[in-house]
Amino acid sequence: MDGPAASGKSTIGLALAQRLGYLFFDTGIMYRAVTWAAVARGIDVRDAAGAGALAKTLDIDILPPGNATDGRHSTVLVDGVDVTWELRSSAVEQHVSAVSAHADVRAALTQQQRQIGLRNSAGSAERPGIVMVGRDIGTAVLPEAPLKIYLDASPMERARRRHAELAARGRDVSIEHIHADILARDAYDSSRAVAPLRPAADAIHIDTTGLSPEAVVARILTLVYAAGT
Ligand code: C5P
Repeated sequence: MDGPAASGKSTIGLALAQRLGYLFFDTGIMYRAVTWAAVARGIDVRDAAGAGALAKTLDIDILPPGNATDGRHSTVLVDGVDVTWELRSSAVEQHVSAVSAHADVRAALTQQQRQIGLRNSAGSAERPGIVMVGRDIGTAVLPEAPLKIYLDASPMERARRRHAELAARGRDVSIEHIHADILARDAYDSSRAVAPLRPAADAIHIDTTGLSPEAVVARILTLVYAAGT
């Protein structure tokens, strides 16, 4: 499942995975983790070699949320430290697109994501399937996926949703600021040379503007059953 910033990929993807008994994997977390570590270690986010080396060696662990009651979908450890909420900071939001555009960063993370995807979609009782979300899953990470969805919503609706999420965690950022950030990130992600944000040729587009998460999940479940996955 691919789509622009705040198009609902995580909410929909997680709900879908729960309904199907599949693993949910949000690949944006990995790009955010590399960005967070680059900023923390003083690596220039425009330094392709530095960011690439970091992506190859960084120890990123994505675990179930456990007993946490703060609304997290997963717990993210970088080199053993819980950075789950740091990954949502404005410094990370601001720099993640630049870090994600480096070919070496993408090569390192795409390879790991592909392995996770193949390992978890064996169709066996223990590993029945995976819902993987990002920007290039259908085009680069798992082009052979049996069902590809491209989620979208109007920029203002996406800004409103992100604003509500942040407000729920006590962060007061204006909708205008979030709207501008989302547009900037989409423009950057769509125009990069390597694996830009783009629907796969055979992706099914769903515009979620004005739709409830339940309605979107129900629609995708119908597609999953029709695809026989
Ligand atoms: O999905 P999320 O907003 O967390 O992604 C953060 C950033 O990570 C995106 O803006 C994009 O630059 C990058 N990303 C990517 N490819 C993916 C997932 C995320 O380039 N598959």
